[in-house]
Parts: sequence; structure tokens; C-alpha cells
Amino acid sequence: MKILVINAGSSSLKYQLIDMETEQVVAKGLCERIGIDGHLKHTPMVGGKNVFNKDVAMPTHAEAIAAVIDKLTSEEYGVVSSMKEIDAVGHRVVHGGEKFACSVKIDDSVMAALEECTPFAPLHNPANITGINACKAVMGDVPMVAVFDTAFHQTMPGKAFTYAIPYEYYKNDGIRRYGFHGTSHRYVSARCAELMGKPIEELKIVSCHMGNGSSICAINGGKSVDTSMGFTPLVGLPMGTRCGDLDAGVIQFLMNKYGFSIDEMLNILNKKSGVLGVSGVSSDFRDLDAAAEQGNERAQLALDMFHYWVAKVTGSYAAAMNGVDAIIFTAGVGENSRETRKAICEYFGYLGVTIDDEANSKRGEDVMISTPDSKVKVFVIPTNEELVIARDTRDIIGG
Ligand code: AMP
Repeated sequence: MKILVINAGSSSLKYQLIDMETEQVVAKGLCERIGIDGHLKHTPMVGGKNVFNKDVAMPTHAEAIAAVIDKLTSEEYGVVSSMKEIDAVGHRVVHGGEKFACSVKIDDSVMAALEECTPFAPLHNPANITGINACKAVMGDVPMVAVFDTAFHQTMPGKAFTYAIPYEYYKNDGIRRYGFHGTSHRYVSARCAELMGKPIEELKIVSCHMGNGSSICAINGGKSVDTSMGFTPLVGLPMGTRCGDLDAGVIQFLMNKYGFSIDEMLNILNKKSGVLGVSGVSSDFRDLDAAAEQGNERAQLALDMFHYWVAKVTGSYAAAMNGVDAIIFTAGVGENSRETRKAICEYFGYLGVTIDDEANSKRGEDVMISTPDSKVKVFVIPTNEELVIARDTRDIIGG
């Protein structure tokens, strides 16, 4: 069985074709500049076929999907002989609101519910819906499944997801903490339990997804019980360009003083803040490391703030769960920056964490970076959201 995993953005579309017998990626690629002009990079991973990397006209997502199918099935670049070999499609969907606590087969009622969730993710859900409709138009009645970033966090208790504002805003308008990166937190926590050789039901885990966007999740017995992102992915940790937690009074003060509209203000908080805003250097942690090494104090401050926030939130989740067995680092920064992991773990002496420097230097593999006698185990686990989407799709369509 082969499953096509699609992650559609407003002007981009990432895909992987996964063979579920081996769980190997047989081809992957990226469509960019959809609606502008269009470019496709398609990389076959088996059969010694050529990489395709050229401009292709993509006025809408439908032409993008058609180009992907064309390359997947072509003589020169293809990995399957026809579209019939693609058994199902799994779509990443950012926001499932309170309607979706797990992945679902897409039908008309699901599409209507996705539309209802759109006000919660006005930038992301419309792109995801467009991707699904484009797939339907090109692929006909191939079964499709939606996998939500928010679904894993639907197990959070009311005390964790409720905001301390008048309750009717939750009841009438759905204002609450939803959390994101759920597919990633779910994958790495399950993998962590496998690596520890223990049932996940017996484990208390803190998962730190640290990439361009970052969030931390408290996972007790395999269930998300708290997470640092909220109603939107803006809050929690300081991120590449997002501000993380911020006193709402700051927004009022700056809007009054500089006459910003709410859109201008949110643009600053989403795109010009975080480690970029503090450092004035970059949102990329590699640039920050290099600048800090050359004595740039604001780059060092941005890094120190990031480490401090990860440590602070992780500690609060250890307290909330009355203990922690394992801490996981994943995503771009978590998987690649041993300096970041080391700096964060220096805060965890009180938990009895000790780090094995040699293990912490490894890259690209699942690895325990704590010493064998460390009381709390620390892991680096490369995330694999596409594999979770493919597995859910397979399970739901009954393969
Ligand atoms: P993601 O959003 O998970 O794709 O992560 C992307 C981010 O990972 C980039 O913006 C970088 O900040 C970070 N990153 C990737 N490689 C490294 C590295 N070797 N050291 C530090 N940060 C890295």
C-alpha cells in the first residue's frame, strides 16, 4: 500500500509518497510559488530515477497536485506506474478545533467542519482545505484522511486549557488553549516509550519541539495534559520570529504610542519578534550561535532567553505531572544543536539529569543523550510527522 502525504500551505505544497510495507519514503517534493508562477522540486528516493527541479505553471493548487501526480507516474522521474497505485492521501490540517480529537476520513461533513474551524486558523486552514479540494479534483474518489495538529492536545483537562477570562468566551466562541505540533509530540513520545522499553501508559514525558516554531508538551500516560502554544501558535516560548508569552498590556501600549493597527501589531509579534527581534541578527539558530561566538551580546541574550524558557516550561510540566521520566528534544534546533541541548540541560541538575557529551554529539538518529545513571532520561528523537499521517491514513482506510 502506498500513501501520499500532503502538507498544503497558502503558496506551497510539500508531499511524500510512503510505501507502508516498509514505511520508506519512495518520493518526496515541494511545490512553491503556487498562484504566482510555480516551481516543483521532485525527488525520487528509489529506483535511481532523476530529480526534477524546474518551473511549472501552477495558477492554483490543482495544477500543483496534477504536476506532482505527473512526476510520480512519469517514465523519467516516477516511482509508480499509475495513479491507481496510490491507495490513499493523508492531509495535514492545522486546526481541528474541539471537533476532532483524532484523525478522520474526509467526507462532506468533515469538509464543513473544517470550514467551521477556519476562523481559529485563518492563514492555515484555508490552504489545507484548498489542498484537499485540489486533490479531489485531480485524484477523484481516492480515500483521504485529515490529520490535525491540534487533535493530540484534546486530552488536556479544563484546568490546563481554560483561559482566565469570562467563561462565556469559551462557551460561545471557543476561546481556549488548543495547542499545536500535536502530531510531532505524539510521534516522539511514542518512540521514546519504545526506546525505554516501557508502556507509554506508565511514563511521564516532556516533549520539546524546538524548530522555527517551538512548543513543549506534557505527556502523562501517553496523553497530552498541557502544552505551551495556545489559542494560536504565537504563545509559549520565544520562537524564531514569534514573541511567545506576552503581557496583553504591551500590545495596548505599543498600539497607542505608534498608532499600529491590530494587523500591524500582530505582524510584529508573529514575524519580527522572538530570537530575531531580540538579537536583531536572525531567526536561524545557526546564525545566532555564530554571532554569539563573535561576541554579539544581543544574540547571546536571545539564546539565553530561549534556553531559560525551555527549562522553565519543562520544569513547570514536571511539577504539573508530579514528576518526569524522560525529556525529549526534537525538530530543527532540538535535533541539530548539541549546544542548545547542553545549555538547556544545565538547568536540570535538580532533576538528577546528567548528559553524556559523546552521545549528545550524534546526529540524525534516535539517541539517549543522558548517562545511564541519569535519574531522568533525555532523548533526541528526529520527528516524523509525515509517517504519523501515513500510518493514521492507513489505519483509517482499513489497510
Ligand atoms: P524546523 O522548523 O523544525 O524545520 O527547524 C528549522 C530551524 O532549525 C532553523 O531555522 C534553524 O534555526 C534550526 N537549525 C537547523 N540546523 C541547525 C543547527 N545545526 N544548529 C542550530 N540550529 C539549527
